[in-house]
Amino acid sequence: MPVLCGHCEKKAVYADPATKQSFCGEHFSVWYENGVASAIEKYRMIEPGDRIAVGLSGGKDSTVLLTVLAKLDLDAELIPVTVDEGIGGYRDDTILAAARLCDKLGLDGRLISFTDICGKTLDELLSRDPRQACSVCGTLRRRALNQAARDVGATKIATGHCLDDEAQSVLMNYLRGDLTRVTGSFQTNADTLFLPRIKPLCRSTERETVAYGLVNRLLTDLPECPYTKYALRAGVRTGLGKLEYKNPGTMMRIVTGQEKLLAKLGPPEGGVKKMGRCELCGEPTLRRLCAACSLLEKRR
Ligand code: SF4
Ligand code: ZN
Repeated sequence: MPVLCGHCEKKAVYADPATKQSFCGEHFSVWYENGVASAIEKYRMIEPGDRIAVGLSGGKDSTVLLTVLAKLDLDAELIPVTVDEGIGGYRDDTILAAARLCDKLGLDGRLISFTDICGKTLDELLSRDPRQACSVCGTLRRRALNQAARDVGATKIATGHCLDDEAQSVLMNYLRGDLTRVTGSFQTNADTLFLPRIKPLCRSTERETVAYGLVNRLLTDLPECPYTKYALRAGVRTGLGKLEYKNPGTMMRIVTGQEKLLAKLGPPEGGVKKMGRCELCGEPTLRRLCAACSLLEKRR
């Protein structure tokens, strides 16, 4: 006997390991979209009239993010922004996928490249030493996304980080012994200086997000970034994935546990540190140079 959807007579295509609910494609999509909508509401991510720059890499998470945001009845404008890092043999296909999605949704997408912001591709920046690939990539992608969002007059930046990313970050702070981050005891006024970032998929797992993409035929086979092998998170991601498989709900408990810890500890002693401006680019920073400028200085 095939397993049936808990909401209709159709064959189930997805079973939620945490709640044991089964869904057909249609009811799963509604359940997933409702999950995203309630995260947006719970964390008050969007206000009426917002202009939201949506980071669209063309990969699965950001593809699902933009599709769901476009489907929800939001009183906000969406401006997809794709960052071309300049990674040979990988990025062209994902940029094409991003452009096709914008066409399908009738949205005017923007493209910004690492060459636009620093005159070099990621491949060129890493030619001598590729080991720090993901931290260089992440730092410059943040810079590019901030710049593109400001250029289009956005009020917020949305990214496709899901529950897995959030739980991995919490765990990595513990694994590094970074008590400052674990306890939130170091806070800056960055929130008031940078465009606010929102993560509408923060309560949806990667498994659910991929399932949504498959059920709605949003995903195509795309190449993998050649620098993935240098990703620091890889080990944490695999270990946490195994834990979640054996004990469904683990990732949610990690993230909500961290939220409860921060709420209990309250505001940091010593108050909020005020940021200055980077000597080279004028971006907010606590040091003489911001993270992007200081890494570019080293890789000149
Ligand atoms: Fe950038 Fe690393 Fe992701 Fe490749 S795997 S796109 S280098 S962050
Ligand atoms: Zn700078």
